[in-house]
Order: sequence, then C-alpha cells, then structure tokens
Amino acid sequence: MAEPLKQVVAGNRQSPEASRSLCKSLSIALAAFPRVRLGHLPTPLEPMDRLSELLGGPRLWVKRDDCTGLSSGGNKTRKLEYLMADAQANGADTIITQGATQSNHARQTAAAAARLGMKCQILLEDRTGSNDPQYNFNGNVLLDMLHGASVSKRAGGADMAAEMETLASELRQQGAVPYIIPGGGSNPIGALGYVNCARELTEQAADIGLQIDAFVHATGSSGTQAGLVAGLAAIESDIQLLGIGVRAPQEKQEQMVFDLAQRTADHLGTGLRISRDSVRANCNYVGPGYGLPTEGMKKAVKTLASTEGLLFDPVYSGKGLDGLIDLVGKGAFEGMDNVVFLHTGGSAALFGYPEVFDLPGYAN
Ligand SMILES: *Cc1c(COP(=O)(O)O)cnc(C)c1O
Repeated sequence: MAEPLKQVVAGNRQSPEASRSLCKSLSIALAAFPRVRLGHLPTPLEPMDRLSELLGGPRLWVKRDDCTGLSSGGNKTRKLEYLMADAQANGADTIITQGATQSNHARQTAAAAARLGMKCQILLEDRTGSNDPQYNFNGNVLLDMLHGASVSKRAGGADMAAEMETLASELRQQGAVPYIIPGGGSNPIGALGYVNCARELTEQAADIGLQIDAFVHATGSSGTQAGLVAGLAAIESDIQLLGIGVRAPQEKQEQMVFDLAQRTADHLGTGLRISRDSVRANCNYVGPGYGLPTEGMKKAVKTLASTEGLLFDPVYSGKGLDGLIDLVGKGAFEGMDNVVFLHTGGSAALFGYPEVFDLPGYAN
C-alpha cells in the first residue's frame, strides 16, 4: 500500500501573486532556448465529473496532452519542440530515434521530422516478442511509415543507444548530418517541454481559480516527470506530483527521474537544486512487464472510454489511470479537493492491441 501524499496546510499555500511572478521568471528562463512550435498549446484542462462521481473521491481533472495536435497527439510533442530546434541549430537533415515497437515517441518524432522537412530513421526494439501482425504493423507502426520514416527492427535487449550511434556513423559516411534523439526524447533538452508544462498548468489553474492538490501521470523514460519536477520546483509550487511507473521498479524509476530533473535544472541554468523528496513514483501497476496488459489497465481504459468518452492507451496512460483509480479507492488523496491526471496520449497504440480488451469478436 502506498504511503499517502503529503498535504499542504491551507495557511501555507503560495499566494497567487507569488505564483504568477515565478511563472513569469520561468518563462523568461525558457525563452533562452531554441524552440520550434509543433504543439497546440496550451492543452485543455477539463473536469472528469462522471469519473469523479463514480469513484467518490476528490474532483478529478484531465490535462489534455493527448491534444497536442501533431499526428494524434501525446506528450512527446512538447519535448520535440526543444529537441527538433536543437537538431536544426546543429544543421541536421536526418533524425535518428528509437523505441519499443508501438512507440508513441517514434510516431511523434516521425511526424515532427516530416513537418520540418527532415528525414527520419526509427529503430524499433522488440521488447515483447509478439508475432501479432496488429502489434507489429498497425497502430503507431503504420503511422511511422505514413509519415515517411524508415523503420527497422532490433531484437529485444539490444543496446539501442549503440545501434543509433552505428547508424549515425553510416549516415555520416554517406554525407548526411544525423541528429540522435534518445528514447522517449528524455534528456535535459526534451525535458524543457515539461518544465514549460508545469508553468502552463499553474497559470491555467490560476486563471479559473482552481487549486490543484495533486498531479498524476504515467512515467517511463522519465523526461516528463523530470521536467515537471524541475518546473514545479522553479515556481515553488505546492502541487504534489506522482508518477505511475510502467517499466522499472520504484527505486530505479525515482533515481532516473531525480537525476534527469537535476540535469534539466542545471541545463535551465537558474541554480535550482532538486530535492529528492519531490520525486515520487508508484510502480505497483506495471504488472508482468513493459507493454504487457494487466486487468487493472483493461478496466481503466474501458471505464474512461465509456464514462468520459476519452481514449487512453494500454502501455502508459492506461496503467497510469489504473494507478490513479486504485489510489483514489485506497484514500491516497484523502483531504484533497482537486487531482489532475496528465493525459500523455498514446491512443494510436490501441490499434496495435485490439484483442486485449476481451471484446466480443476479438479473439485473444
Ligand atoms: C512516452 C509516454 C509516457 C511516458 O513519458 P516519459 O517521459 O517517457 O516518462 C507516458 N504516456 C505515453 C502515452 C507515452 O507515449
């Protein structure tokens, strides 16, 4: 059972004026970094009242980063705004990246490269060993190819960073200028996109007079959470951030997020120190492994689709939601009024796993 999140005593809340002025300073710090506009920002912040009523806990909200606009949306678009600008600044003509077969990151990178007139080479790691044609060719893989990316596969457990380096030197020999984006776009440049999201959400909540107690999301390659940790720290926010892990065990996940959050803060150059306590991941909802379905995920995806009309994905946001729903039931948000779930996107992956939801006519 997870320990309850810390609650902020009402009298200790940050004043709206202090918050606005810190948000403004953060905007100024971020403006020093090259950025290409790819996303539809700010993304909407919407209440999920049917889900809140069903669960009977705090009022639940959704921050719609599935609506970032590029190729069916998702969290990688915010990171790519900074990464692709850095690629352009380095004179690159070809983007290389990697991910699991149904990588949402690969799909959004392929779309961003298309938008900016660059070539894109995607290496897909077979982490699940599935022979299912839907998994291997539908969903994100179909979209990677529609966006004109070159896709090639590598065996599960391959050293994907080394594979990308090898490909980059081959391309250099042919006269190309490659730029490598790490898996998930998770490095201090990409994470700036989520530093900016922390500011965006805070200003958006202030505009509607909403006091957010907790912010919950699926955490994988860690750039999203690391950026949010650094961004929330920069604006001295009292929002409690919680990542729901989809792959690594808790200790490893938190260490990854903490390291990247501090490196992101260093890159931002404002002298910010990240506190280890501000990094919290709950990794009890991974199930048998990365990308492998769980009963809780199936139930969560079906519940949100049928009560809120929202589509989540089986690998990330569905497991994140399973965590949110279960933790509401366990009273982890007791005493809190407003909890926001970050919708990190991924619904294109639903078409890579049509049989997991036990629907009539879809043989498993
Ligand atoms: C990549 C991804 C995540 C995890 O974000 P990280 O920055 O890799 O931790 C969550 N949800 C979806 C849908 C994703 O594609």
